[in-house]
Amino acid sequence: MGEPLSLKNHAPESLRSELAAIGVEPYRAEQIANWIYVRGVEDFDAMTDLGRDLRVRLAQLATTRVLTFVRSETGADGTTKGVLRTAEGHVIEAVTIPEERRTTLCLSTQVGCPLACSFCATGAMGFTRNLTTAEIIDQVCRMRELLPEGQSITNVVFMGMGEPLLNLPAVVEAVKILLHPKAFALAPRRVTVSTAGLVPKIPELLEQVPVNLAVSLHATTDAVRDVLVPLNRRFPIRVLMETLRGLESITRRRPVFFEYTLLEGVNDSPEDARRLATLLKPLPAKINVIPMNSHTDSPHRPPAADVIDRFMAELALQRMTVTLRRSRGEDIDAACGQLAARETGSGPRECSTP
Ligand code: SAH
Repeated sequence: MGEPLSLKNHAPESLRSELAAIGVEPYRAEQIANWIYVRGVEDFDAMTDLGRDLRVRLAQLATTRVLTFVRSETGADGTTKGVLRTAEGHVIEAVTIPEERRTTLCLSTQVGCPLACSFCATGAMGFTRNLTTAEIIDQVCRMRELLPEGQSITNVVFMGMGEPLLNLPAVVEAVKILLHPKAFALAPRRVTVSTAGLVPKIPELLEQVPVNLAVSLHATTDAVRDVLVPLNRRFPIRVLMETLRGLESITRRRPVFFEYTLLEGVNDSPEDARRLATLLKPLPAKINVIPMNSHTDSPHRPPAADVIDRFMAELALQRMTVTLRRSRGEDIDAACGQLAARETGSGPRECSTP
């Protein structure tokens, strides 16, 4: 007998054939998805409409949960960080961010990250491996257990540890589970995948799933971006922008979200703001400005309040759609770029929610 079938690796469509391969009727896929994702039931014993024989067989041949909690922490603003462990002991983090009318879950896609952006704590960890679809989706299942009564996850952002587009097949399958009406049933506009700019994979992502795209830009010249986001040396700003302008989903006026982490003295001048506006004017762009979340792995710091105000004012003057992201979960190292998944002590990262 081979490995047990890890049910959360498959959206209902592909689960049908996986079940058939172990001798289970394909139509059971939707029933099982309903138990796991809609009702939050993971023990086969409790899946009462499956019949006793099938429940016993599934318990032998299939698995549901793949992550366990190391710990969780809730900050003063309600942001909750879950530190989770994979079967072989790798540690990853996920964050829920409650707001007035929504609760956003920020998911990790890799253990660590190979891109080594100079200001990001995950980048400083180095790269271990890609997460499986089941490990991505189990973050949703585990994190929603921590939500207060009556609260549910309304939005998902792939902005945790790792570069989602370096793990595209697993991310696409996970998105299918998030969108599937018999699974999490999220509307496509409530799911956002963020990339540091892995240009060739951007069209591939959007051809497969109708999610929002976020691009971590952070600089307006190649000289600066080459240093902050080393991936820029392979895919410079002009190539990135040309690719985005060529996307059919974008030309149909679906906005692209741009993340711009403000680093004191590096990318925070009024000229930077003007160049940013010029660069993004040809696109339906929404800009999220995130003042740097400090952490011990990076020398960068956030600019002073008046410098941030000036940067924002300049973008407003250029009539750009721009939001200043309040840092969420900083007290528990859950902010953007503060996720480093150390089992003890703290590291950096945060989530910006479009
Ligand atoms: N690798 C993907 C997904 C991570 S998203 C990407 O780069 O888009 C996490 C976001 O937080 C990215 O925009 C990242 O650049 C930003 N970020 C990383 N470190 C940060 C920090 N210390 N302060 C503020 N934002 C940070």
